Amino acid sequence: MIDERLSFRTLRKEVIEPGICAACYGCVSFCTANDLNVLTIEKDKPAYCDEQNCLEDGICYLICPRTPDLDKALKTKFRYEDPIGFYLSVRSLRTTNKEIADVCCDGGAVTGLLEFLLDTKRIDGALLSKKETVWNNEPMIAMDFGDLLKCAGSSLAQSKSVRDLGHLTTYASVFRALKKSSELDVTKLAVVGTPCQISTIRKMQLLHIVPSHIATFTIGLFCFENFLMNEKGAKFLTRKIGASLDQIEKINLKEDFSVKLKNGKVEHIDLDALGPIVRPSCIACTDFSNYSADISVGGVGSPEGYTTVLARSQAAQRLINLAIRQGYLEEAQSEGALKKIWAMAERKKLRGEQVFAKKKRQIS
Ligand SMILES: Cc1cc2nc3c(=O)[nH]c(=O)nc-3n(C[C@H](O)[C@H](O)[C@H](O)COP(=O)(O)OP(=O)(O)OC[C@H]3O[C@@H](n4cnc5c(N)ncnc54)[C@H](O)[C@@H]3O)c2cc1C
Repeated sequence: MIDERLSFRTLRKEVIEPGICAACYGCVSFCTANDLNVLTIEKDKPAYCDEQNCLEDGICYLICPRTPDLDKALKTKFRYEDPIGFYLSVRSLRTTNKEIADVCCDGGAVTGLLEFLLDTKRIDGALLSKKETVWNNEPMIAMDFGDLLKCAGSSLAQSKSVRDLGHLTTYASVFRALKKSSELDVTKLAVVGTPCQISTIRKMQLLHIVPSHIATFTIGLFCFENFLMNEKGAKFLTRKIGASLDQIEKINLKEDFSVKLKNGKVEHIDLDALGPIVRPSCIACTDFSNYSADISVGGVGSPEGYTTVLARSQAAQRLINLAIRQGYLEEAQSEGALKKIWAMAERKKLRGEQVFAKKKRQIS
């Protein structure tokens, strides 16, 4: 299955140099020659540290969410149908826990479901992103309810959680990994992530790369795009919202980008008008609905205070029903949700395909 001709050089040429790297850091974290210091992260981008030691086995290339080689296999495995993938149900759900409701992004269905999975010992922990500020987060393996609460809510910035899964690898850095995984004693891990993160993990699972097998339940966030807040971006957004960034209470992304200020005012900005703060690599992505996750979630299509939840398998459907029956989640009517998700997915796919085709022309 592994193509000998592929290496990090190919990845650099086709993905990093054209500016479409998703910065999930799967390539750096799961490099077969990890102990030989082949790859590193330089200015937020994967780079060679010691090119001489590259084994050229192509793992880094194959697991990248922006390379096409495993896409067909992934789409077949998850019975992909255009444009939002295979699903069994679309529901509007929210947590019944007030502590979660106070800090979550939409309806807290993600954190509520994780609470249920932890309480019923269906998972040992969850690989999440702990919000530091709305523009900044750190990966965290949540092991209890207190940890889940620290991670609830969305931070609109690249999460490095796939990199953190690398600390659990037994693929290359055996000793470091054994130490950390035995400390944590995790064999069943839920993973919450954007489409690029979930697809990296799914590609690793196709190739049986350790420790992707412990990602036993994946919750995929809908994602139109993600953001990079630098000086230029800060100036741009300050102008758009008519207030300084420290006046922001909450940012959310559904069909548009909304900014709630501390004075209670809410500004809505069209997604096409966010150019300077959008991560350039996100505009080359075609997956809005996170088609390879076990369940996919977002705010679009649900009443305020609820999360839209797509169950993509019978097992996921059963878990959601159980979480409702046991009082962790509750449901509201969600008419028209599907149409809205569909429209967002078509819009993103069209943009991504155009950008991808342009980049391909540039490198060929
Ligand atoms: C970058 C980004 C873009 C999004 N774009 C859209 C969109 O266009 N349309 C839409 O309807 N919904 C979008 N969402 C999803 C939406 O913002 C909510 O996360 C989702 O509705 C779940 O809400 P909740 O209240 O159930 O989650 P909560 O219970 O609040 O839990 C949120 C979970 O998301 C994880 N998380 C937070 N930030 C990140 C991050 N940067 N990367 C990875 N994981 C993270 C946390 O670890 C936590 O487990 C986006 C989310 C993100 C992070």
